[in-house]
Amino acid sequence: MSSQTPSSLHFVLIPLMASGHQIPMVDMGKLLSQHGVAVTIVTTPVNSLRLDPLITAHNVKFGLKIQLLSIRFPCVEAGLPNGCENLEDLPSRNMSRHFFDAARMLQEPLEKILKDIQPPPTCIISDKHLPWTVQIASKFRIPRILFDGMSCFSFVCSHNIMISKVYEQQSDLETFVVPGLPDRIELNRAQLPSSFNHGSLDLVDLRKEIVEAEKASYGWVINSFEDLEKAYVQEYRKTKGDKVWCVGPVSLCNEGDSDKAHRGNRSSINEGQCLRWLDSWPPGSVIYACLGSLSCPTAPQLIELGSGLEATGRPFIWVIRKSEITTSNDDLQLWVSELEGRVRDRGLLIWGWAPQMLILSHPSVGGFLTHCGWNSTLEGVCAGVPMVAWPLFAEQFYNERFIVKVLRTGVSVGVRAAIKWGEEGKAAVLVKREDVRKSVEEIMSGGREGEEMRKRATKLAEMAKRATGGGGSSYLEIKAFVEDVKQVSNK
Ligand code: UDP
Repeated sequence: MSSQTPSSLHFVLIPLMASGHQIPMVDMGKLLSQHGVAVTIVTTPVNSLRLDPLITAHNVKFGLKIQLLSIRFPCVEAGLPNGCENLEDLPSRNMSRHFFDAARMLQEPLEKILKDIQPPPTCIISDKHLPWTVQIASKFRIPRILFDGMSCFSFVCSHNIMISKVYEQQSDLETFVVPGLPDRIELNRAQLPSSFNHGSLDLVDLRKEIVEAEKASYGWVINSFEDLEKAYVQEYRKTKGDKVWCVGPVSLCNEGDSDKAHRGNRSSINEGQCLRWLDSWPPGSVIYACLGSLSCPTAPQLIELGSGLEATGRPFIWVIRKSEITTSNDDLQLWVSELEGRVRDRGLLIWGWAPQMLILSHPSVGGFLTHCGWNSTLEGVCAGVPMVAWPLFAEQFYNERFIVKVLRTGVSVGVRAAIKWGEEGKAAVLVKREDVRKSVEEIMSGGREGEEMRKRATKLAEMAKRATGGGGSSYLEIKAFVEDVKQVSNK
């Protein structure tokens, strides 16, 4: 490998094109750039339009240089509609295979560009769902590091379930205890990520490739912090080795309101209006409900959620994702506009994209109803608010257990089975309005257990801040990570 001076370190970040993957990777880029590293983030034209404003603002504010490298996404060649450059934009989940095929076609043009890029790339930080990046790293003789978008807890659960095969003898809804964990964690087979049982067959090869590419990778960067899940970080390291750096929560690199507001996507609400609405409520009184960027609940399920929020009698913000996949938006829109009329004095409804981090960090917000995506879970931790955990699919049921049983900062809304990828339109109503009302009450009411949860949540938020501040564990791990890559590239 070529010799690198400190100022010529250049990390190439390749996120999967989906908000839950792009947003933390951009935050990672910001952190690296603050540690003196030149950063290039690889993306596509549509995603570049979304990311450019936040990168530009960051560069101007800190006098730093993160560059976006936009490569044409071959939608049509891969059988996707034109402009479908983000997992969220797929007309049907059954087209995921095409999406990953298109992503793979980025390899060749990216290699051509990287040949001439200055300074030459020092390493690749890749999303694990892009296994072909291992070939680029090998051609350029640079390390490939994986950005792991999950917690160590999730990894250890999955690993132990897989090794023990404990789920194999169980029927779908029969609970089992995950073996070998420091905490007693119960799950059932129907809650496990799709790779365990009902996975889409055409993604099986991709999964195998991902595993092979992981074996050929140099290390792992994790969006978590040591004090959040110490025992699980240790277990993670036992399996993966010592090239594991816990650098999170990466979202905390966004300090001011403007950084928080422009972190993900263009918001569907004016941020000033949102802040003024929040300012009008007492501290800790508002419940914020959002089921993430990829969820597609059916109209009847959304109606139960909205009715449950209404029944709490509390002020709330509800983010409703426009989903062509599962809902006839006309019917839903009518129902929602009637709801809006009934709760005009205390409900703020956002159709589309909310400035989540800005909302969560406002003092009026006292609880978070979340689908338990890992980014949202961490953002809830950083905001110091108790959570209502409503997992939908993927590793979200692990995160739900983590919130409820390990951190003990939230309650479960009681979902017993994951929604199958590609079958969202057929999903039954899994959560009733009364479940929503009751669980919101549990975290928001001043009862003893609610108070204890709130105290624990406040403490965790302080710990997260300490971890990322100067001298904190995550701050030191980023430094150590950069130093490690520097050493290996000088060899
Ligand atoms: N997000 C947001 N506004 C929305 C929906 C989502 O800012 O209306 C952000 C959220 O803050 C988080 C990311 O999108 O950073 C979603 O990632 P997560 O892992 O929570 O879930 P996913 O959407 O990938 O299932």
